[in-house]
Amino acid sequence: MKKITLFIAAAALFIAADVSAQMTMVRDGKVKSRIIVTTDQKPDSVAAVLLQDFVQRISGAVLPVVPADEVGKFLRKGDVLIGNGMTDTLYDVSESQEGEKVLKEDGFRLLTGDGRLRIAGGGDKGSIYGVVTLLEKYLGVSYWGENEYSLTKSKDVVLPEIDEIDNPAFRYRQSQFYGMRNDPVYKLWMRLEEPAEMFAGSYWVHTFDKLMPSSRYGVEHPEYYSYFGGKRHPGKASQWCLSNPEVFEIVCERIDSIFKANPGRNMISVSQNDGNYTNCQCDACKAIDEYEGALSGSVIHFLNKLAARFPDKEFSTLAYLYTMQPPK
Ligand SMILES: [Zn+2]
Repeated sequence: MKKITLFIAAAALFIAADVSAQMTMVRDGKVKSRIIVTTDQKPDSVAAVLLQDFVQRISGAVLPVVPADEVGKFLRKGDVLIGNGMTDTLYDVSESQEGEKVLKEDGFRLLTGDGRLRIAGGGDKGSIYGVVTLLEKYLGVSYWGENEYSLTKSKDVVLPEIDEIDNPAFRYRQSQFYGMRNDPVYKLWMRLEEPAEMFAGSYWVHTFDKLMPSSRYGVEHPEYYSYFGGKRHPGKASQWCLSNPEVFEIVCERIDSIFKANPGRNMISVSQNDGNYTNCQCDACKAIDEYEGALSGSVIHFLNKLAARFPDKEFSTLAYLYTMQPPK
């Protein structure tokens, strides 16, 4: 008998330990959790409402969304902390123990501890994507489109122990499905962004002629533009002479002023005009393309020089028509 009693006691201990690692948001349809928005940043508020919305769709319970300044000193078991504020109350999960930043922009960390959940973001929409992953991976929600989603209804919403870091592989994702404008959940769920939200001054694709207009420079400086068929071709479907150092300086000055006029934006597209095989074939440009074994060679060389000149900015370009072949 003694042996059996011991065995049962050990099993009970094991179960108790397992349960304490869980975090209860809703129990038997009753609210057991608060969603605390720890910053005044918009994505954190959006993330909070998204979580509240889907927990209600699952359980019927409406978790309160509470701003940080209404929480006071004391956190409770069940609290969900969204954003990187109030870090002294749990711990700053956006940094490693060595103080290294572990989350990239749009990245996030989900971490349970002390009966609470922290959803930290690496900037921009990180905390929102943290909520999406929580709903998808841990609460069984799939979202396909407006009013098209699946979930299992339950009176209990309980999370297991979680420690998950996710950083995006791509800096920016876009689809041409603009129906998402009618369905903000779809856009957030699929982690899509739109050019106007990302690119400085909306400089997105085919930007050559916007950056250095042929109407302004073409007459006086035809040598800034593509050479082919025996002459220079300033024009909106033509391209730049990418090996010309004056072109590089003019473009740098222009980009600098665009970034200054658009504080908070760090990305710009420097990309060919919409014309095929209108690339410069002057000796210097041709030499780069031949060395790289592709007509994209001179474009990528130019972009790399820009990236060196503006080390804290991000540049995008096109692989399009004659530049679809990457350099060697
Ligand atoms: Zn050239």
